[in-house]
Amino acid sequence: MSLDDIRTRMANAEKASGRSEGSVELIAVSKVQPDARVLSVLDQGHRIFGENYVQEAQGKWPGWRERYPDLKLHMIGPLQSNKAKAAVGLFDAIHTLDRMSLARKLATAIEAQGTAPDLFVQVNTGDEPQKAGILPDELAGFLEQLHALGLQPKGLMCIPPESEEARPHFRLLRKLAEAEGLTQLSMGMSADFEEAIAEGATHIRVGSAIFGARDYSDKG
Ligand SMILES: *Cc1c(COP(=O)(O)O)cnc(C)c1O
Repeated sequence: MSLDDIRTRMANAEKASGRSEGSVELIAVSKVQPDARVLSVLDQGHRIFGENYVQEAQGKWPGWRERYPDLKLHMIGPLQSNKAKAAVGLFDAIHTLDRMSLARKLATAIEAQGTAPDLFVQVNTGDEPQKAGILPDELAGFLEQLHALGLQPKGLMCIPPESEEARPHFRLLRKLAEAEGLTQLSMGMSADFEEAIAEGATHIRVGSAIFGARDYSDKG
């Protein structure tokens, strides 16, 4: 796969579902990838990247940001509350807002730094006990609490259960967003981004299909 192939497949999926071309944003998920692969994608003109770990992102992106000032960085991994401040300083969007303790830290950091990343609430669409995310039944109440803190999330994000078909989860996420008047949907990865586009994704998070398989063996 290459960036061009993914772009072609995105355009086809947009067309097939009657959506306008370019309506879906591609987040190239560069976690754990060697610098050379990331630089190659930067050289091809791509500017929107996703990372899972604050520390890794802090280590690699500030330098590249100077060279590519139009970069957009999305935090898509679980965020520890004690990293909220660093995350607000580093990321243009955070997709994994999943609890009030984190929301409070983010609100404080946003106030202090005078800059606010776009926020997505992670929803546990499969009701999986081990997975992060707000349960669908608890979403409305959670959003009310966020509003009370002064946070206005732009959309919802989900990671469907590995053992199930993804598409019904994408559809559920869209319904939840519509019910809450939220317009942005972060859903779809390498294996299923076309289905996510068909269900209304506005942001897809694609890693291995662009960069190749991740090799965790040489990382701590
Ligand atoms: C790693 C990751 C991705 C990218 O996964 P691929 O299957 O490599 O496309 C997308 N979303 C989240 C939340 C991830 O952690």
